[in-house]
Amino acid sequence: MTVRAHIPRHAQHTPVGKIVRSTSLAWLWQSLTAAVVLAVLTSAAAWVVHLEQEAATRLRAQVALETLDAKVGGLRYLPQALAYGSTPPKTTILLEQGLRRTAASESATLADLSPSLGVPIRTVTDQLSNAAAQEITMASRGQIKQAGTFDFQTVTPLYTKFTNMSAHAEPILRSLASSSDTSSLIWVWVTVLSTGLLLVLILAGFERSRRERLRTATEREALRGSEERFRALVQNSTDVITVVNQYGVVLFQAPSVRSVLGYDPAAMVGASLSEIVHPGDLFRFQALCESGSHEGQDIRLRHANGTWLACEARGTNLRNHREVRGVVLNIRDVSERKNLENELRHQAFHDSLTGLANGALFRDRVEHALARQRRTGGPLAVLLVDLDDFKTINDSLGHDGGDHVLCQVASRLRSAVRASDTVARLGGDEFAILLEDSARGNGPSRAAERTLARLAPPVRVNGRSLIVSASIGAAIANKGRPGGEELLRNADVAMYAAKAQGKGRWAQFEPGMNVAVAERLELRADLVDALTAGNQMELYYQPVVDLETRKVTLVEALLRWHHPKRGLVPPLEFLPLAEECGLIVPLGRWVLRQALTQVAAWRRESSSLAELAVSVNVSGRQLEDAGFASEVRDALAASGLDDPAALILEITETTLMREAEETITRLGELKAIGTRLAIDDFGTGYSSLGYLQHFPVDLLKIDRSFVAGLAGGPRQAALAEAVVKIGASLELQTVAEGVEMEEQVGQLRALACGYGQGFLFAEPLPAQGFEAQFAGESTMAPAMAVTLP
Ligand code: C2E
Ligand code: CA
Ligand code: CA
Repeated sequence: MTVRAHIPRHAQHTPVGKIVRSTSLAWLWQSLTAAVVLAVLTSAAAWVVHLEQEAATRLRAQVALETLDAKVGGLRYLPQALAYGSTPPKTTILLEQGLRRTAASESATLADLSPSLGVPIRTVTDQLSNAAAQEITMASRGQIKQAGTFDFQTVTPLYTKFTNMSAHAEPILRSLASSSDTSSLIWVWVTVLSTGLLLVLILAGFERSRRERLRTATEREALRGSEERFRALVQNSTDVITVVNQYGVVLFQAPSVRSVLGYDPAAMVGASLSEIVHPGDLFRFQALCESGSHEGQDIRLRHANGTWLACEARGTNLRNHREVRGVVLNIRDVSERKNLENELRHQAFHDSLTGLANGALFRDRVEHALARQRRTGGPLAVLLVDLDDFKTINDSLGHDGGDHVLCQVASRLRSAVRASDTVARLGGDEFAILLEDSARGNGPSRAAERTLARLAPPVRVNGRSLIVSASIGAAIANKGRPGGEELLRNADVAMYAAKAQGKGRWAQFEPGMNVAVAERLELRADLVDALTAGNQMELYYQPVVDLETRKVTLVEALLRWHHPKRGLVPPLEFLPLAEECGLIVPLGRWVLRQALTQVAAWRRESSSLAELAVSVNVSGRQLEDAGFASEVRDALAASGLDDPAALILEITETTLMREAEETITRLGELKAIGTRLAIDDFGTGYSSLGYLQHFPVDLLKIDRSFVAGLAGGPRQAALAEAVVKIGASLELQTVAEGVEMEEQVGQLRALACGYGQGFLFAEPLPAQGFEAQFAGESTMAPAMAVTLP
């Protein structure tokens, strides 16, 4: 079956049939009209000729009658003229012969032309001629009397008979002639009119057929157009158009199958389409071939290259159609749409950054697993994995770096568990693992340990190596209990417990753990109360001394919380909470104002502290605040401290490493006010040292781990020395933190470190204690420091 043969037959009910029929009708009409016209014209012409001839004959008959009248009249009187001697005999005979001849011929003519009239006239004429001739003979012989008698007895009656006949014939001939004139005129008119009518008919016929032809041509053109369009549609359609019988055997195949599925259309005809239908879709496909349902069915078809193509097939049952006799399948490649759908579905249930399942999918999987477990038994476990200090990592690396770390963590988590287990990212730096098959026995603990081990190797980001640790909480469900929400909450509680135990470890949920988490939440609420109550927070002051002169030149303000029930809470316990909930911003504002007011008072009141500077710790959250610089300016103004350089703002190295545009802007603003900047905990950030040149820093505070390291093994000491030396090499003032032993002072001085802070000199003291100890004395003897409580 070819497309060309196929289409016109399809179009039986289309104008083609009509065109063919109307064309043959037009021809029949035309030829009939032509035949009739020809016949009418011919017969009309023949009739006219006939009439003309008849008229001419009648005219001749009339003329002949008149001539005959004259000649017969002559013959009648010729013997008398001879008798009376008016004409000589010789002339008379000659005349008589001429007259006789003419009369004979005219009467013959008359007889020929009008037999009804002619025959007796001829007879009478002949008799009269003979009688006249006889009389003439008698007269010429001088037998006048006899002639007279003869004339009286024979010629005159004959002549009378003739004139009677002639008189009778004449009106007949005349009326005949005139009647023939009228009828010929009528006939001429009839002919003209009918010819005209026929001509009109013919012209109308021609016009009709011309229009018909035109219409036919237009329709044929239109049909050809639509046929070509149809063919083009079928041939160029992106849909595969296939006609199959109820068993799926191809009866017709449009060429588009080549571009869509890669098959030769001709080779498809006669083959079973089922052979390239995905086994999973075979049932639906067969139903489609049988019913020809117009509803789109998702069916996968094997491409010639062996891959499966997602298609949508619709059927149209034309089994009763004379020409089609099958189900027309419209098959469309919907792989792009499917991919998009899959993509969207994937997006709805997956984390876009790591490609892991998201919270929604994870919860769904947990619910399904619990439902399964209720039927089949067997434990399942959830591990909640929370990265330690990810905020710091994120801050120091920027978002791209943070994202990179999260992706690395995601792939390590995936590698730590079985393929049948679900790994999800619940949000931020929180991941979750659902253990189904591996939750028996010590499965969960092994999975948790394996996960920690996988996370242990440093992650490479932007050329740096980072240690990423995580705290893991594990919770187990048995026989579907507890339910999904509670299971996740338990894992969360366990995770907090692991964090509280010191991070980088895992803990399994135990009922008592809830208490710890509740405590944490309680502490947070207490912190809010503390800020509103106003008298629970206090600043302690720890001196920073010049290592050479032992003079106190600087004091660091350190925050303390007197909890109404718990007593003194160390800053490292509540500050992360304050940071988490944003309370650090108002708290930091209070610290700044409090410290400046205190130091301004000491500078005013104590000569030994007249040049005392104060360093205040600033958290990353405070620096993010666009109004921070003006806050500092206001606090300076409010304190009455005239020298802005007397304020040193301590920013930890990790906060600085955020490299955010706003950090640099903020530092510039602070420098513009005239305050000094210090890098706190120097050496512990995840930094290369190049950044030091970018920031307008005045002071380096060497982290106490390096100071402690000076007394350690040779490698540790070398590293500590290198870090301490950096300050000097950059011509920055260097403060060593955590100086606890006298010998450290010597070592630090040897490394050109100018200042020290630590228990060796003084522990952080409340304002009054500091005042009591240092307001009158600005130089500390080492012995005195050591004796400090
Ligand atoms: P930091 O800024 O490094 O403060 C120095 C910490 O080292 C203080 O701990 C201090 O008590 C302790 N320290 C001083 N000398 C020695 C020593 O010889 N040996 C040892 N082992 N420790 C010594 P503290 O007061 O517990 O503060 C802990 C951290 O809390 C501070 O570390 C600082 O990062 C933060 N912090 C304290 N107050 C504030 C504050 O007002 N705002 C902010 N943002 N952070 C604060
Ligand atoms: Ca500090
Ligand atoms: Ca420090």
